[in-house]
Amino acid sequence: MRRRHFLGAGAAWAFSAGLPRAWAGAAPRVVVVGGGFGGATAARYLRLLDPSIDVTLVEPNDAFVSCPLSNLVLGGFRAMEDITRPYGGLAASGVRLVRDSAASIDVERKQVRLARGESLPFDRVVVAPGVDFMWQELPAMNDAEAQSTVLHAWKAGPQTARLRRQLEEMPDGGVFVISIPEAPLRCPPGPYERACQAAAYFRKSKRRSKVVIVDANEDVLSKGALFKRAWAELYPGLVEYQPNSKAIDVDVATKTVKLEFGDVKGDVINVLPPMKAGNIAAPFITANGRWCEVDWLTFESKAARGVHVLGDSLQIAPLMPKSATMANGQGKVCASAIVELLNDRPPNPSPTLLNTCYSMVSDRLSIHVASVHKYDDRERTMKPVPGAGGLSAAMNELEGEYAMSWARNIWADALGG
Ligand SMILES: Cc1cc2nc3c(=O)[nH]c(=O)nc-3n(C[C@H](O)[C@H](O)[C@H](O)COP(=O)(O)OP(=O)(O)OC[C@H]3O[C@@H](n4cnc5c(N)ncnc54)[C@H](O)[C@@H]3O)c2cc1C
Repeated sequence: MRRRHFLGAGAAWAFSAGLPRAWAGAAPRVVVVGGGFGGATAARYLRLLDPSIDVTLVEPNDAFVSCPLSNLVLGGFRAMEDITRPYGGLAASGVRLVRDSAASIDVERKQVRLARGESLPFDRVVVAPGVDFMWQELPAMNDAEAQSTVLHAWKAGPQTARLRRQLEEMPDGGVFVISIPEAPLRCPPGPYERACQAAAYFRKSKRRSKVVIVDANEDVLSKGALFKRAWAELYPGLVEYQPNSKAIDVDVATKTVKLEFGDVKGDVINVLPPMKAGNIAAPFITANGRWCEVDWLTFESKAARGVHVLGDSLQIAPLMPKSATMANGQGKVCASAIVELLNDRPPNPSPTLLNTCYSMVSDRLSIHVASVHKYDDRERTMKPVPGAGGLSAAMNELEGEYAMSWARNIWADALGG
């Protein structure tokens, strides 16, 4: 990590104060909250499309840690360094980096208030905080100690490394339980990929252990036939799949996932809580008390003018997954629309978004799903293009290589190298 590129909030404040252009309002100012796949892409593309815009990215982490490929860390086939990238490329693109969390967004005064107290003024703000968790749905988990014991590892970072350690420390013959909430969730295929990675580890190093998936949904959410074939052919007897098994609570002491019907006890339990828009996006939630609706041409919030929301915090359009590829594409469409709006021009009336999602079913074999989503003028939503996209015919090594280059490319595209 090239730390010198990452200014502390105070330093950024002092630095900004020395730039009258930014504060006198001569150059338009965009503040981006969240440096994940959506926010980092939007920040970088704003600068690429119009270098006169003053772009500030607020992100608490000093490096980017990728959720895609993080399941390979759990399998023991990649290290945390392999999925960690510096933010320096964004600084080189002219994005001002503020290492802090946004504490609130004042839409009236057009300011993002930082956790450490300062405020950043904006003409437009991009809110891309990913997901947060609905802990109240699992009462015993609504507690800091429980949350530090029963891990989700659904935000790549320290929890990924800790869940790997829990698997390493689990005795041979142990049971690893993965609990999946009802859709929609971040990365629908991700939990089943995780099951493959844990099974690959057990097949190699803990042959008497097994993975039990308790899924609140009625079937595997994505690439179902391909995952089931991988479990049957690569990991016979190692993966047990239970659909219609919604977790309603957790007994932390006994490592038991309490289900609507029956309980499942494990040696390591990995509970993915129901998800909602990241907390900082709460004022812009308009759908089911969970997600943020936007105008798909601009990603402007339906709740507030001048506020753009993207990535996993969104209320999805039909058949649109919450994925890194999606967040990356949304970041570009949003950046382009903001540039047009700031220059008093109409945004692209017909944007297209793509999704490609690879799942590693072993250390080398992969499968994918792809789709294309186009703006529908009449219904004012993004709709899948019939016949575009599809699924892998079968798992194979070439797709494994494509998966690795997909990751390298999207990291470079979002972060600028
Ligand atoms: C195990 C796993 C595997 C996955 N595999 C794939 C895959 O193979 N392909 C794929 O396409 N997708 C995959 N995904 C999904 C993908 O990671 C997400 O869809 C993507 O990260 C969404 O991007 P985002 O920008 O909305 O959120 P994120 O990438 O999570 O970024 C949000 C950022 O906002 C920051 N933030 C939050 N709150 C604040 C605040 N108040 N102030 C400042 N910053 C804040 C966070 O620190 C974070 O950096 C996977 C997810 C998981 C969990």
